[in-house]
Amino acid sequence: MFSIVPLLIARPPPPLGLFGGTFNPPHRGHLAAALAARRALGLDRVILIPSRVPPHKPPRQLAPARDRARMVRLLVGRRPGLAVSGIELRRRGPSFTLDTVRAVQRRHPRRPLYFIIGADWVRKIPTWHRWRDLLRLVRFAVVTRPGAALVPLRGYADRFVLVHAPGADVSASRIRARLGAGRSVGRDLPPAVRAYALRHGLYGARA
Ligand code: ATP
Repeated sequence: MFSIVPLLIARPPPPLGLFGGTFNPPHRGHLAAALAARRALGLDRVILIPSRVPPHKPPRQLAPARDRARMVRLLVGRRPGLAVSGIELRRRGPSFTLDTVRAVQRRHPRRPLYFIIGADWVRKIPTWHRWRDLLRLVRFAVVTRPGAALVPLRGYADRFVLVHAPGADVSASRIRARLGAGRSVGRDLPPAVRAYALRHGLYGARA
């Protein structure tokens, strides 16, 4: 009689996706990126993590973290396989990805982790806080983004996987500009997110 227990123990747990950003506001492109990465990499879950104090974004036009987090929850809704974490909202100081990843690892020590980013961000990774340490802990899932060429980081090719997302030509900066000018944002913002931004007068939007 043989036991199946060793087989069960040997099986690695499914990977988790972490998707950090300012989400100022969260939009259809973010949703498409999260869903595409989940599908392509067989991720158990993708956790969207709004940053409280983004180290790279100028604070101009940055909506309060509480509002951005609420809009991310509205974007995600009840979609299976997506979740939202307030981990960076609870931490003081700049929201360094390395600190977030370490905290997730303490909770899920055996899980392989993918950090999801748009292709436009890859060349900026060497400006991130202790980025080499970060690359040892996670692999980056790079989501294609219209107009953004993928420039791989020399010497780290094995730490990156490319994910083809359905071309969502959407950017938060364009949405902010349109909301501020009282123009339509079409389908780029789900109705619940748009209604929230209008109700709270974010980005100069008026209901
Ligand atoms: P902004 O226009 O203000 O720079 P952004 O949407 O690029 O906004 P973030 O909210 O910080 O900025 O983006 C979070 C992550 O989502 C980043 O890795 C970014 O590259 C990625 N991302 C944003 N929009 C898209 C999109 N349309 N397709 C794929 N990835 C995207």
